Amino acid sequence: MPAFVDTAKITVKSGKGGNGAVAFHREKYVAAGGPDGGDGGRGGDVILQVDPHMSTLMDFRYKRKYVAGNGMDGTGKRCSGKDGEDMVIKVPLGTVVRDAQSGQIIADMSNTEPFVLCRGGNGGWGNKHFATPTRQVPNFAKAGLPGQEREVILELKLLADVGLVGFPNVGKSTLLSVVSKARPKIADYHFTTLFPNLGVVYVDEGVSFVMADIPGIIEGASDGAGLGHDFLRHIDRCRLLIHIVDVSGREGRDPVEDFEAINTELEQYSPELAQRPMLVAGNKADIAEDRSLLEKLKVHVEAKGLTFFELSAATHQGVDALMRHAAGLLAQLPPITVYEPNYVPAPPELDTSGDVTIEKVDDVWMVDGPWLQRLMSNVNFNDIESRNWFDRVLRESGLFQRMEDMGVQDGDTVCLYNLEFEYQK
Ligand code: GDP
Ligand code: MG
Repeated sequence: MPAFVDTAKITVKSGKGGNGAVAFHREKYVAAGGPDGGDGGRGGDVILQVDPHMSTLMDFRYKRKYVAGNGMDGTGKRCSGKDGEDMVIKVPLGTVVRDAQSGQIIADMSNTEPFVLCRGGNGGWGNKHFATPTRQVPNFAKAGLPGQEREVILELKLLADVGLVGFPNVGKSTLLSVVSKARPKIADYHFTTLFPNLGVVYVDEGVSFVMADIPGIIEGASDGAGLGHDFLRHIDRCRLLIHIVDVSGREGRDPVEDFEAINTELEQYSPELAQRPMLVAGNKADIAEDRSLLEKLKVHVEAKGLTFFELSAATHQGVDALMRHAAGLLAQLPPITVYEPNYVPAPPELDTSGDVTIEKVDDVWMVDGPWLQRLMSNVNFNDIESRNWFDRVLRESGLFQRMEDMGVQDGDTVCLYNLEFEYQK
């Protein structure tokens, strides 16, 4: 059986913008046509989109690189190049996207809104943009801007209201199967559940919740035993935990010890998760030969201020009461956690010592250079901070000083790829 895959590291790359064209209108009997070079197409974006039918990140095991299409170059007759094709990556609901370097959260795919992970580069302008009354034969066009490449980690954190926790074989999957349409694998040996299962529990008209059954945690998981703590990430978002304990005494286990062992594991994984509201169910009551085990657990649990339920998932005894109680609590609990992005893009490292050509064409200062291209593709011109950063990099590169030395005046037009602005000291 393939292991359940709930994290993946992938590389994504958006498309490069196409180059603008240099072309002139030609027609019989028209001596000198105007510039008609079209713009390059935009590079494709890399977009994440939730696919409700996906339940694991398995696909990302085999395909780790996702590249959007490049924009096509512009051509004559004012024809713009075709935009590059977007790369749409389908992910399961609840996928948290992190920056691979910093681990910071870029997005939480907990709804159906698409998320643009990498923008494609803008296409370069064709020479048709550069005609002015005093500049009728612009013999230049602009190169398209490069796309962005980044490495991200995808991490699946299921969107469930209730998480079932407990040792393997205590009846978690059985409970989920009797209260929902989920059909998890059930068997009388440990570790049957390798995939987390989700089921919708309908309690009453208009009252329902989502419950998750995760692979059993076992004692020592924090030291790397068994399935470890990996699966606990699936209940990170849960609003309520139902702790299932086998009280049948069949395997010679002590329910109070089991209960405490799981709590210790939760605590070691996340003290915050260990504080989550919890209901406790003593399961397999139908085959409990020694009722004192059940009673001992009940006393122990209630002494901690928790609510205890006697349960038999197999015969459905106590199941309805437990589900109703859970629904009642959920109505008062805060909604499912959605992770706020905290990713702060590190300023890209740019070597601004590379070549830049400054050319004055008619009344316009044309500035070109490979690092400038890279710089431009990293600026969000709608964002003031990003623009300020852009300004600072340009200033620190010595570009403006060179232009001053060449005689640039306030109010002159400066053309940087797709950006035209008036020079201001
Ligand atoms: P999980 O590992 O916690 O998901 O446990 P399962 O749901 O797979 O159940 C393990 C075994 O216990 C299966 O053979 C179930 O049929 C059995 N089982 C689960 N709940 C009960 C119960 O309430 N009574 C009895 N007698 N057996 C149960
Ligand atoms: Mg199970």
